[in-house]
Amino acid sequence: MPAAPRMPVVFFGHGSPMNALAPNRYADAWRALGTRVPRPRAILSVSAHWYTRGSAVTAMARPRTIHDFYGFPPPLYELSYPAPGDPALAARVRALAAPAEVQPDSGWGLDHGTWQVLLHAFPGADVPVVQLSIDGTQPGSYHYALGRRLAPLRDEGVLVIGSGNVVHNLALMRRDPAAGPYDWAARFDERVRALIAARAHAALVDYETLGEDARRSIPTPEHYLPLLYCLALQDEREEVAFPVDGIELGSVSLLAAVIG
Ligand code: ZN
Repeated sequence: MPAAPRMPVVFFGHGSPMNALAPNRYADAWRALGTRVPRPRAILSVSAHWYTRGSAVTAMARPRTIHDFYGFPPPLYELSYPAPGDPALAARVRALAAPAEVQPDSGWGLDHGTWQVLLHAFPGADVPVVQLSIDGTQPGSYHYALGRRLAPLRDEGVLVIGSGNVVHNLALMRRDPAAGPYDWAARFDERVRALIAARAHAALVDYETLGEDARRSIPTPEHYLPLLYCLALQDEREEVAFPVDGIELGSVSLLAAVIG
């Protein structure tokens, strides 16, 4: 059997769940991305919306579509993303993660961090998808180290994706689209983008040392940490592309990054 092509790694800034429905430039960029990457054998997703004590990986054959948001229009609750699971990949993730303990999970499924981008990128829902949770008790360095141990997956036809937002402050969000981004949000988005381009992984892992803009942009880390899993998988010589960028609601960044 010929070797599988080395898969890229994608960080998606997912923004509002409404991006699942809305035709807009973010959805367009996600769709274009899905047609550009080699067809994966499976997808491993690290989503901001599965934030746990300890780590877990979805191990069921048929993950359900989770509508984990409130107060949105009914059509959003009618969407489903019936991609199969991949119990063998879940076992492989558990083995690679050692010495970190990753529990097999049969209760979660695909949350909107995963399906709202995949239904654009892989609309056929025919590529198996597994989710790895984010252990909220651990620092950035732990997540980066865990990400590195998953590197062999890239040569096994697995597309690893992170889904979050590098700027995510819902407490300060602006409902008026004319209001534009906060200065600190735009500054931090640009800074993160520049640090990614410069391969300054140490600074990005220690995001808590990046000052006041970082504190406002990352009031809680669950939307930022998926980025660290993606960066951890970058090889020495690999470039990063930014297929789309922008700030919604004043304080939510849609920056996406493709490694490799
Ligand atoms: Zn989110």
